[in-house]
Amino acid sequence: MRFNTKLLHGKSTSGFESGQTLPPISQVSAFSHESMEDLEKVFDHKKMGFAYTRIGNPTVAAFEQKINELEGGAGAVCTSSGMSAITSAILTVCESGDEIIAGSGLYGGTIGLFHDLEKLGIHTVFAADLTEDAVRGLINEKTRLIFTELISNPSLKVADVAGITNAAHEAHVPLFVDSTTATPFISRPLLLGADVVIHSTSKYLNGGGNSIGGVIVDGGKFKWDFEKHTALSGFKKYGQMAFSVRLRTDVWQNLGGCMAPMNAYLSYIGTDTLGLRMERICSNADRLAQALDEVPGITVNYLTLKSHPYHRFVKSELGGYGGGILSFRAGSKARAFAIINALKYVCIASNIGDIRTLVIHPASTLYVQASPEEMAAAGVYEDTVRVSVGIEDIEDLIEDFTQAIEGSKDL
Ligand SMILES: *Cc1c(COP(=O)(O)O)cnc(C)c1O
Repeated sequence: MRFNTKLLHGKSTSGFESGQTLPPISQVSAFSHESMEDLEKVFDHKKMGFAYTRIGNPTVAAFEQKINELEGGAGAVCTSSGMSAITSAILTVCESGDEIIAGSGLYGGTIGLFHDLEKLGIHTVFAADLTEDAVRGLINEKTRLIFTELISNPSLKVADVAGITNAAHEAHVPLFVDSTTATPFISRPLLLGADVVIHSTSKYLNGGGNSIGGVIVDGGKFKWDFEKHTALSGFKKYGQMAFSVRLRTDVWQNLGGCMAPMNAYLSYIGTDTLGLRMERICSNADRLAQALDEVPGITVNYLTLKSHPYHRFVKSELGGYGGGILSFRAGSKARAFAIINALKYVCIASNIGDIRTLVIHPASTLYVQASPEEMAAAGVYEDTVRVSVGIEDIEDLIEDFTQAIEGSKDL
């Protein structure tokens, strides 16, 4: 089955109790049972079933299975947000005294989380450029996981998943990939060698900008070293599934970051059109980038431009696509603001992955707390404009951006 067919007819799309074509919305807190023996078995994981929505819900399970199938995973857990997914995944394998190696230019919330984790004794080492060699150089006996985004934004650095995994696996360390900006339409990190994939489903998977959510997908292939990964030592009997089992039955369930059933439903129906949307979004982004690249006075950053430092990965890792995000430098903050204000067909909003085109000036919003060094690593300057390209008619987007840029020439 190819991608779009799988979205609609894959294993995870059927089997609902009355033949519903979509998962029923189980908007409940708890599930009642025939007998106390029955509920005991559910709690003891001896019987399939549901007890309480924080620890399991059929609508959420349907969405988990759908994403798991798309990523080629062994199991998935949905969370209340992308940040909740990253937090739960990390705390499942890291404890005080442990170290994480991470790429640079990460999502601002993730950088903030790594700072918070310092107070719990979990230290993060950031690599300016997270290559295979950089990982080899930074790994030590305290390293418990490598964390990277597949395509960072707005810097658009692409992680060499196969190379990083080589270095990580030599040292028995897993690679966790935040693939939010890529989506399984563009790339499937588990098939490239990564061990765990994380998404903020708030973005492209949902697509309509109508609910916050996250998901963690375990590849189930990593051979945990229980002497090293002591956070998982109580789950040794589960072998390669130790991460999934601790995540679901312990860390995630106790941190309390479950996905709301209605959000799971909205994200499920959003994901049905992921292929169609991503194809259009990537084509629009590519055409907008090529058009703006011809406009004097601005510099465009987009992966399919041949001059882009990570261009080679478009073919090798991203299926020929450049994703939905581009940015450009306008020359000054004043001009960046003037361009944004002169646009007619965009929303000024701090989100990505919507079907509507969204723009923002990252330096004065998303990175307002970042240091100049963190900003530079994230590819954010005083004059950077970030665009999350939508599905509008491309002619309208090109005309709109061109008039806004040309109208502010004198600034
Ligand atoms: C948005 C985002 C997150 C955080 O997700 P939320 O759903 O907002 O909590 C994490 N990583 C990336 C790459 C994101 O774009």
